Amino acid sequence: MYKRRTELLQEVVGMAAKRPDIMSVQTEAARDGNYTVDMLVVNLEPSGLSTSHSNKVRLLLDFGEHGREFISSEVGLRFLRTLTNDTAFEAAAGGARRAARLRRILDLCVFKILPMENARGRELVESGKLCERKNGRGVDTNRNWGVDWGVKEKDYDPNEEYPGTAPHSEPEVQIIMRQAKALKPHVWLNVHSGMYALFTPYDHKPYVPEGEAEQASLRIMRRINELSCQGKCVIGSGGKSVGYLAHGTATDYMYDVLKVPLAFTWEIYGDESAGFDDCFRMFNPVTRPLFEETVKSWVSALLQLVELLPTHPATAPLLKAAAADAAPAGAAPAVQRRQGLDAEEPRPGAEGQQLEEGKGASGQEGRADSEAAAAAAAAAAGPGAAGAKEGAVAEGQQQQQQQQGGTLPRPLRAHSSEGRLRDPQMPAQRLASTHWLVPAVVMAVALGGLVWGRQQHKAAG
Ligand SMILES: [Zn+2]
Repeated sequence: MYKRRTELLQEVVGMAAKRPDIMSVQTEAARDGNYTVDMLVVNLEPSGLSTSHSNKVRLLLDFGEHGREFISSEVGLRFLRTLTNDTAFEAAAGGARRAARLRRILDLCVFKILPMENARGRELVESGKLCERKNGRGVDTNRNWGVDWGVKEKDYDPNEEYPGTAPHSEPEVQIIMRQAKALKPHVWLNVHSGMYALFTPYDHKPYVPEGEAEQASLRIMRRINELSCQGKCVIGSGGKSVGYLAHGTATDYMYDVLKVPLAFTWEIYGDESAGFDDCFRMFNPVTRPLFEETVKSWVSALLQLVELLPTHPATAPLLKAAAADAAPAGAAPAVQRRQGLDAEEPRPGAEGQQLEEGKGASGQEGRADSEAAAAAAAAAAGPGAAGAKEGAVAEGQQQQQQQQGGTLPRPLRAHSSEGRLRDPQMPAQRLASTHWLVPAVVMAVALGGLVWGRQQHKAAG
């Protein structure tokens, strides 16, 4: 079920060839000494590729920063497929009505997507180093950025988080820096695995900075937690929530230095019952149903992020037209309706019907529908309406929590045999189905002595 590195990247290139109207790819190169990196960068603009992005919401999405976290790039791949294929998009949206509303927001967005930041490190994992998270020359690129770079905690482990010889020494970091400076994103999202969490800055200080925008970002993460993480994601500052600080992270740099208002690190999967040597299973779902569920949930979360952009003060003004459009009729004036879509506008009393329609796909989409409409209405109506918006979604969240139950996550750092997740048997036969991993597993076992000595993996970012 997991694609090899080259296969995954070729699939991305193939998508761009099929949809040249909205998607293009380029290979960005950088080097330091003998170490060279070629990174595939995707440009995606749902309203049609253009060169002027000043009036659009700009999003920079980074997948596959750590070699062993295969699931991250799989989500990136599926998200690209969802945005470039009308049938897949409507299915992911849970119906035509929500798809139409989402499209109105997406038409005002432009994406740069890095489907696999760390292709060089991924190469090492595919050759058998299943526990490798760093880049192709042993640097953790998510410790290489210039905010609080090089500061080491007491339990600093160079095998996990060697920060490099200087801030931004790594070609991967230089390429992302170039992309970020050119795009000036409103949204930075760094997708990892190892636990379940939706982090906002800071990673290097144990608190979330104060401010209206920061609170709005947290609210968005809380909603996504309920809708796509079954309420089990840790929310908040990476530094506070995980119990240890991380220095030199990309998300802190994006937020602090490049002033990206919505900066997030998502941790989308973790199996804390996996043995310390069983990295593949610790960071990636290893059964087909769990793989599908994980990928689907997080593509859904990405769509919800888009849908909630009208609720954030940094992006709401750019999305005013879409926000007014997305609101239930009567809640806010429609600033600008697009031709051909009026027939699908929600009308008073039509919300129940929408919920039913949305539920068809996953049971979560309906709540996303009504929530986004309430949020958009509140955003369009101004800050004073925020309370009403919160109230409107609280009930649905509560209901969902009751339905889902859900295990409380713990960072893998506090690894324990308690709280086993689904499908506790395993990896051997599952990995065997991924034929190319078999020699890798043999090699990992042979190297077991090296790995057994490790007490923990740092999950966050
Ligand atoms: Zn990671």
